[in-house]
Amino acid sequence: MISALISHPTEGLVLFETGAGKDYPEVWGPQLNDIFARENYVEDQELDAAIRKTGNDIKDVKAVIMGHLHLDHAGGLEYFRGTDIPIYTHELELKNAFYSIATKIDIGSYMPTYLQFDLNWKPFHGDGFELAKGLIIRHCPGHTPGLSILQVNLKDSGTWIFTTDQYIVKENYESLASQGWFTRDHASWSRSNQMIHSLQKLTNAKLIFGHDRDVLFQYETAPNSYT
Ligand SMILES: [Zn+2]
Repeated sequence: MISALISHPTEGLVLFETGAGKDYPEVWGPQLNDIFARENYVEDQELDAAIRKTGNDIKDVKAVIMGHLHLDHAGGLEYFRGTDIPIYTHELELKNAFYSIATKIDIGSYMPTYLQFDLNWKPFHGDGFELAKGLIIRHCPGHTPGLSILQVNLKDSGTWIFTTDQYIVKENYESLASQGWFTRDHASWSRSNQMIHSLQKLTNAKLIFGHDRDVLFQYETAPNSYT
């Protein structure tokens, strides 16, 4: 589970996704643990600890952008409950997540622990949203109705695209190999897939996938950074 911390010249510290949250195996319970078994646990990869490694504190984060609200990406929102930190999420993602919890139709993918009214939800709408210079959020439905990717344009290292679970791993991007039930809405996913391929070509972006550890570790991670 991957988060990105961006130090923006006008916005301050912006966090993209939050991971599963502290003690998630206990919070999730045995059935979900069978699917998402935790291996090679290292405490310094917890969200707050990883941010500390960069010389910052999680309390210094000024805004959070959520690619989607599944429990393995949004559980760490617990750190922001009761604060006024804006949590940017696509309108459709927010609606679908609360609906899924309220009706229990998708209770295994979303959790009531972080789908709460004491978070400062800031929905965005439509196809895209430029949060600030060089921080572009793009709606890419498929895996969930409101999934959105984050494009970050940096001065020296160029463009980065954080795909969240539009692609779980690199193979989902490079071939049309089925993701099984992860893909969910295939027609929407295919349109999103075409857009991202085009965007990558135009910007020569580096891609960070939702759960591809090997790709992630080809790059520097905290405390190192890119400019
Ligand atoms: Zn995921």
